[in-house]
Amino acid sequence: MKHDRSRELFEQAQTYIPGGVNSPVRAFKSVGGNPLFIKGGEGAYVIDSDDNSYVDYVGAYGPLILGHRNQSVLAALSEQLKAGLGYGATTEAEVEIAKKICKFVPSLEQVRLVTSGTEATMSAIRLARGYTRRDLIVKFEGCYHGHVDGLLVKAGSGALTLGEPDSLGVPKAYTDLTHVLTYNDIEGVKAFFKEHGERVACIIVEPIAGNMNCVPPVPGFLETLRSCCNEFGSVLIFDEVMTGFRVALGGAQSVYGVTPDLTALGKVIGGGLPVGAFGGRKDIMDHIAPNGAVYQAGTLSGSPLAVAAGLAMLDAVSAPDFYDKLSATAETMLSGMKERADAAGVPFTTNQVGGMFGCFFNKHDKVTSYADVMAGDSAAFQTYFHIMLENGVYLAPSAFEAGFVSSAHGTEEIQLTLDAAEKAFNSIT
Ligand SMILES: *Cc1c(COP(=O)(O)O)cnc(C)c1O
Repeated sequence: MKHDRSRELFEQAQTYIPGGVNSPVRAFKSVGGNPLFIKGGEGAYVIDSDDNSYVDYVGAYGPLILGHRNQSVLAALSEQLKAGLGYGATTEAEVEIAKKICKFVPSLEQVRLVTSGTEATMSAIRLARGYTRRDLIVKFEGCYHGHVDGLLVKAGSGALTLGEPDSLGVPKAYTDLTHVLTYNDIEGVKAFFKEHGERVACIIVEPIAGNMNCVPPVPGFLETLRSCCNEFGSVLIFDEVMTGFRVALGGAQSVYGVTPDLTALGKVIGGGLPVGAFGGRKDIMDHIAPNGAVYQAGTLSGSPLAVAAGLAMLDAVSAPDFYDKLSATAETMLSGMKERADAAGVPFTTNQVGGMFGCFFNKHDKVTSYADVMAGDSAAFQTYFHIMLENGVYLAPSAFEAGFVSSAHGTEEIQLTLDAAEKAFNSIT
């Protein structure tokens, strides 16, 4: 497989773009080698600038649950293009998408659209602080909530990949107000709340951790967060930017039956365009401007193009059995991988919820914590990553990213993936 054009483009990119990328994980730092430049996509495949095609498990890092160039999303976009790009006024389609989101995720009584997941979590936290009149926030190690100043503490994939869990440029005074607890450590949460619960404005959590690879909550974890927040009057925020419309129509909250006060959304709800959203209980949402005194705004918020793409996407994913099929695709692919890893004698385990999954080169067969993820064999991942790539499978270039399947992934793509995986596992031993 030739990558000459990608190599050439990366040279140029590094001259004009810091590190040659507009988001750090794209730089292949943790796996080594040269990042691919992608010039197009079709269904389950991406095509690089040297015309190689790959089965895509990145899905633009989450949004492309219908695969590339989904025809109904493209049709909705071209329809909107005829009517214009934006007006700085509320449109009928914004009302429609807000209604739909509130219907599919019933804990949302009201929702506000923003332009990225980062904005969604940042705004939800400001709102929780304004509502409770408290400053302290609680997050979990390995959870990523966007590059919000106060949340760049032990913050998952991008930061983990660079080996810089904290960022320069974030005043210590900001992160002093962020308390970091251990994901899936029920007792740790209880102990912290017993001591400090009255000062906690909110807990923000990925209900399925997706930025330290993929780590689902253990039974009782989310329930404990809910009961601590109830007891101490803190706001429970589920960051479902990744899991929303990815693991089920109602998000992770519907899978585990735990209801947050506020939810942050992004990725899938934009159908591939820049979108985020946050919403929840009306009595809390009422504190946002213009009704309330918590300020939040955005020139491009509710962009008609993004809303059109989002509505088309919501239509598609609300079809009966959509998530059952997506889940089955992921399951078939992962069980095939596990078989091949076992046959090759490679320690390997997987996690999966709906259309989201994680693969781990770990000795024990359950990965439920940040420490478990860290215990994975990173050299094995690196070998696996490059062999998969050379055999036409595009994975995220980091052992700490979750993988995604789309509704465009079918039997043929799974077979191609498993054939590549067999080669990869055989080269690891
Ligand atoms: C991707 C992600 C974000 C940030 O969203 P951006 O659109 O990149 O700003 C926040 N939270 C979670 C859980 C994410 O996966």
